[in-house]
Amino acid sequence: MSRYLTQSLPPEHYARELLAQLRINTIPTPVELICTNLGIVLNYNSGLSCESLIAQKNGKTAIIINDRETYGHRKRFSIGHELGHYSIPSHLQDTYQCSLNDLNHYTPDKIAESEADQFSPELLMPSNHFLPDVKKHELSLSTIIDLSNKYDTSLISTAIRFIKATEDLGAIVLSQNKCIKWTFHSPLFLGVIRDRGQLHISSTALITLNMVSTYPAYPDVCQVMCGQIILMELVF
Ligand SMILES: [Zn+2]
Repeated sequence: MSRYLTQSLPPEHYARELLAQLRINTIPTPVELICTNLGIVLNYNSGLSCESLIAQKNGKTAIIINDRETYGHRKRFSIGHELGHYSIPSHLQDTYQCSLNDLNHYTPDKIAESEADQFSPELLMPSNHFLPDVKKHELSLSTIIDLSNKYDTSLISTAIRFIKATEDLGAIVLSQNKCIKWTFHSPLFLGVIRDRGQLHISSTALITLNMVSTYPAYPDVCQVMCGQIILMELVF
């Protein structure tokens, strides 16, 4: 059975289709301009009970982004996520209210959220730009930081996008409150990474977390490179 809802094409296809339709080929992807060009009203609201939402009624569409304690990269990802609900044909609800923690949508009722989460990275880091960048650069923390700056995306989403595309051997481990939350590895990486539980006491991510509260330029991430494995501690 298809892991997608009803459309036969992957969510990334609709992101590429949207960019082509609007003739947008600039980096960073101008997500606010996309909303304007589509006639979508984009608002920011600090009183929103969720991270973001999209509402469609009588042919009009509004996207509202939570403005409270939310910084630029996350806003851009959220706009991309909502544009996914707008663009993917099988997303037929009038309203989608979306929350954080968007990396683990495995249950059927969350498939639409997972699809919107796949749409957004392709919109923000389009394959025609990002894949050549992956080929040009080795997996390293400085590469991830450089690409994060180029595409105006978070370190985490950039790292995940890179690790899925690279032909290098590597992995990233994301932890929160000293517990491993997610692991991602490159297609050729054959090592085994424990995907849950406490970080090992000697983990460089744990050590870094204890020594430095946050990585200065990125308030959500405390990270360190360890061989070919990037360890990131999320700090909320
Ligand atoms: Zn959503």
